[in-house]
Amino acid sequence: MAPHADVDWPVCGQDGCIGIRLEEDHECLAHAGDEARDAALKHVAQTGRIDARGVTISDALLGKILGTVQHDADGHRTFSAVEFSRATFEGDVEFSRATFEGEAEFDEATFQGDAWFGGAVFQGDGGFGGARFQRGVGFGRVIFHSFARFGGAIFQSDARFGGAIFQGVAWFSGATFERAQQFGPLLAKAGLNLDAVQFAQPVRIEASTIGMSCCRARFPDGVQFRLRWASVVLDDADIPAPSLFMGIPRLADEELALAEQQMARDWEHEHAGPVPEQPRLLSLQRANVAGLGLANVDLADCRFSGAHNLDKLRLEADVTFKFSPARVGWEQRQVIAEECTWRASHTKPGRWADPWWPEDLEKPTALAPGAIAGLYRALRKSREDAKDEPGAADFYYGEMEMRRHARGQGDSGSRGRAERGVLTVYWLVSGYGLRAWRALAALVVLAVVITGALVGLGLAASASPQHLAGTITSSPDKRTRIDATLNTAQPELPPAGQRWTVQRTQTALEVTLDSIAFRATDQPLTTAGIWTTDAARILGPSLLVLALLAIRSRVKR
Ligand SMILES: [Zn+2]
Repeated sequence: MAPHADVDWPVCGQDGCIGIRLEEDHECLAHAGDEARDAALKHVAQTGRIDARGVTISDALLGKILGTVQHDADGHRTFSAVEFSRATFEGDVEFSRATFEGEAEFDEATFQGDAWFGGAVFQGDGGFGGARFQRGVGFGRVIFHSFARFGGAIFQSDARFGGAIFQGVAWFSGATFERAQQFGPLLAKAGLNLDAVQFAQPVRIEASTIGMSCCRARFPDGVQFRLRWASVVLDDADIPAPSLFMGIPRLADEELALAEQQMARDWEHEHAGPVPEQPRLLSLQRANVAGLGLANVDLADCRFSGAHNLDKLRLEADVTFKFSPARVGWEQRQVIAEECTWRASHTKPGRWADPWWPEDLEKPTALAPGAIAGLYRALRKSREDAKDEPGAADFYYGEMEMRRHARGQGDSGSRGRAERGVLTVYWLVSGYGLRAWRALAALVVLAVVITGALVGLGLAASASPQHLAGTITSSPDKRTRIDATLNTAQPELPPAGQRWTVQRTQTALEVTLDSIAFRATDQPLTTAGIWTTDAARILGPSLLVLALLAIRSRVKR
């Protein structure tokens, strides 16, 4: 066995030991003789630097190391640089309130006992990538001034990060938390990366950060995100159990809340403008959101493409979407980012803005209208379940709009064309049964058209049947009395020159209104006139019903 084959430092002469060999010796700090070890520790005391990569550090050895390190004025240990990569700490590790002035590397170290870093200050990068913490871990009130690496770390027991402040990126990508039920509250000024993390227990994550990436993260027993400021990406995350993603008005930790104010001022300075406190969810693409509920979160730029169980997503209080850019208020409706993207590149690029997306992330692919309609349908269902009638109506409108514009496979052909035709008419005359003004406008147009048709083609010339009575003398002594009613056999239009008169228009309008109100008229009509009034009798009441339905849906809000 050659366990040191993959390390890039000169290893200890002891068989199987990967500890770095001391400069003046053949063995590592653990296996060196007393004299060599004391010399090495003296060097540590002088420089504050320690290189114990790969060394197995017993309780006693750690005690000796910590005993040599200098203390600052407040009595806290101060290291200029430490390298403990792949070291094994056999006992408890006590670095509470220590100051690490330079790099502090604990990558792939194993902590067999408790590891206490509470209140420590890392002025350089802090590296715990791939470290294994077999017992409790305390990073409470720790301050990382630079990059904090915890990628791939394994926390087998409790892990406390309450009150931690990360001035650089807090990198936890691929970390596993086997027992932790609380993560934070913490500040992460330059962002919090929780990609591919796994929390085996139900967990509460509380953070103030400018951005949080939680792609491919797994929360089998549920998660409660309590966030401020953050723009969040949850692509491919798995959230099957009851969970909540919410913006909170303030952090639970008073001390952090103070530090947060300074951080917010810095952000405003960097972003040349105020950053909203309300967290913003940017993407749920391909995530399983079966258990997820959202509250007090901005969804204006959120992408939903490919999300599983989208119809089970719970939209709770204060969830905001973008509004469509309508010229008049009552035409506005809530829209999702995917529609904005499509509109911006197709229909009215000047009016529709492409939704925001971070520059350093790969841009989501634009969806076809048919697919966007599917997203609206699923989200509408979730709003209906929440008894949110106006929200559901807006998404129904969006779904219909996208179906009307769909031109994909399966949408083509005569069936697709027929459906689009029906939808277009439905949209024009009533805004899918949701826009009363459209139905009323259509009614006015209908009245004008019918009136015009009657004047031009429908109203016959004679006003009423004529009655004829008299006596006919066919021979001098024989008189026959007749009594007859004369009807024009075929009601005919007056000559072209006499059709468009005010009188006839008035009559035609009366006939039209009667027809729309489903009343019969006694005006003589040509065949064309009869068909015209029949059409008015069907279309008029339909439009009235649509208008009433639309008004009802609006009054419900
Ligand atoms: Zn050794």
